[in-house]
Order: sequence, then C-alpha cells, then structure tokens
Amino acid sequence: MKKFLKITGYTVSFLLIIYLTASMFVPEIVDKDHNQIRQKPPYQVSEEAQQLYKSLDFRADLHCDALLWKRDLLKEHDFGQVDIPRMIKANMGLQGFTIVTKSPKAQNFDKNTGNSDNITLLYMMQRRPVSSWKSLTKRAEVQCEDLFDFEKRSKGLFRVILSKNDFVRYLSDKRKNREITAGFLGVEGAHALDGELENVETLYKAGVRMMSPTHFFDNKLGGSAHGISHKGLTDFGKHVIGEMTKKHMIIDIAHSSPKIIDDIIEMTDAPVISSHTGVKGTCDNVRNLSDKHLKAIARSGGLVGIAMFKKAVCGTDASATAKAIKYTIDLIGADHVALGSDFDGSVTTPFDVTGLPLIVEELLKLNVSEEEIRKVMGENVKNFMLENLPDE
Ligand SMILES: [Zn+2]
Repeated sequence: MKKFLKITGYTVSFLLIIYLTASMFVPEIVDKDHNQIRQKPPYQVSEEAQQLYKSLDFRADLHCDALLWKRDLLKEHDFGQVDIPRMIKANMGLQGFTIVTKSPKAQNFDKNTGNSDNITLLYMMQRRPVSSWKSLTKRAEVQCEDLFDFEKRSKGLFRVILSKNDFVRYLSDKRKNREITAGFLGVEGAHALDGELENVETLYKAGVRMMSPTHFFDNKLGGSAHGISHKGLTDFGKHVIGEMTKKHMIIDIAHSSPKIIDDIIEMTDAPVISSHTGVKGTCDNVRNLSDKHLKAIARSGGLVGIAMFKKAVCGTDASATAKAIKYTIDLIGADHVALGSDFDGSVTTPFDVTGLPLIVEELLKLNVSEEEIRKVMGENVKNFMLENLPDE
C-alpha cells in the first residue's frame, strides 16, 4: 500500500510538473502559429493614402478574437494582429472584441459537428479558472473580465463601451486626445449560453453587446453555415433573438446558415450585421453572403464588415479585401459597409492593425470616393453604435 501511494504521488507530481511547464510555453506557441501576418510592420503606402487615413475622423473594426489567446493586450507584441498599443498607433476608434467559446477539432468550412472541442484544452493550458473549462457561459465571462481588466490597468488609455452614453462621452474625449482607444464585446456562437435563455442576461451583464447565433457547428439555436443540418432558427433560437432585441444587443449573422439569416430578417425589425464576412460576388463559398442577403442587411439598417483573410476574400493581400468592399458598396451603397478584419481569429492576415492604411490605398486605386472610404473605415460603425447601443 505504501509503495502504491508513493508511486501515485510520484506520478501526480510528474504530471503536475509537465502541466505547469507546458502551460508556460504552449499557449504562446499556439497563438503565434494561429495568428500570423504576411508582412511585418511598418507598412509603406502612398502619400495620398497616408494623408487620407490620417484625416479620417473615426476608424473602426467590428471583429477580432484577440481575447482568446490570453495575451496581455496592454503590451505591444511582435506577434498576433492586434493589441491596445498597436490600436493606438493606428489611431483606432473602436474595435469589436468577439469571444470564441468552442471550436471543433479539424475545423473546416464545409461540415463540422459540435462533438469535439479545441478550446477546452487551450483554456486548461492557459490556466484559466477550472469553472470555465466546463461551462461555455463561464468561458465567455472570463474573456469579458479580461477586457475590463485591461481597461482598469490601462490608466485611461482604453475603454470598454457598453452604452450610447459611454460612447458619446468617449467620442468627445477621443476628439481631445487621440492617444485613447476603445472596444466593445461580442460573442461568436450562442452555444455560449449553455442552452439557457436566462444566460442572455448573464452575458449582457458581463458586457456583451453583440452575439451571433452559431459559429462553426449547429447548436440549440439552429444551423451553422459550416454545420450539418443547415436548418433555420429553432424555437429556442427565436426566443434568444427576441431577448437580444429587447436588450438592444446587436444581432450578428456571421457564420449562420442562410436559413437562419432568412428567419432573423423575417422575425425582427432590428438592424442585422455581419461582423466579419466575405461576399459571394467576389469569393463564392458557404460562409460568404449572397447578394440577396447583402441587400436584406442594408434594408434592415445593418452593416457588412468585410474580413481580411484568404478564405473570406479569395486573396492574400489588401486588394482582395478592397475588391469585396467595392463590390458591396456598388450593390448596397457605402452606408452599410464596414471593416470586420477577424484579426487574431486563427487566420493569417496581410498585415496587423497598423496596416489598415493599405486598405485605403487599395480603395483609392479602385476609384472609391474619399467620402465612401471615410464611411467604410469607421463612420458607419460610429453612427451605427450611436443609434443602436442601449441608452445606458
Ligand atoms: Zn469567425
């Protein structure tokens, strides 16, 4: 018995040492590997593009998954695609920080089930709280807490925007001090509710102001664009959308099956957005939006955030994103087009957040007007938030 206890003790200590050692290195290795950029900063653009970027009143991006990696976003990193010092360098006005809580093994664009998950192991390796290893709602909450922690430690440089009032105050301060920046919280895939309607309130209280019904697999709300069923909204899904609408949470249809998009457009008068997407018109795949859905989003008063990675725009540089933006402007008008980079979303992007002037340069080459560029680069998101965030 004594011998048995001794061996067990040795085994547990050995495993603990392996865990502690691995957790010191593995998360950063995975982060570096998953979020690469094709070209390192600084970025060279024409004088005209640089001047126009500099003169923009507001710059915004609807989607990044930077919170997943447990990076200290207050520090400037030489890897990954976005952090707060780089946002300030780029003079960003607002960045969407979206939360991934579950992602299937061998994740692909065409067919995934929700039977497996990569995030559990990542969370364990990142030494996140044990309660968040099991509950997806808790997983979302700890990422929200991280963003508020950055706000607290930023000495006023970074703010989390929760309401119209917050945003109005921030805009007035930002006009006086370009060295401040801000973010808002979103969730990718409402499986983060752990199947409970009341968790809409839990996530709202945690600071979440935008949520998409599905991510890479079908869930209790309905079908994913990358799932098996391709179904529309379930009754539960309709209740969730109803609850979100009441709370003025932004409905994000990125990754949803086309039927879910139809159902949402039909059931609500609320504006609908896609926080990060490509368009079938320049890059035809299951994830990207059809002309019909682009028009429906515009009719709803929503926004289309154009992404910056190969599978969304069928190209590896800024010109592919610019092409998708131009296509969307021509189809639905410049008032409904925005940036939705998907920075740090396990994608390789052409540049990090300081490379956004390259988008301006490519839009100029496509003869997109200065006024339209201003709208796409940030004005539209600013106006959308002023109209659609909860009052306080
Ligand atoms: Zn995504």
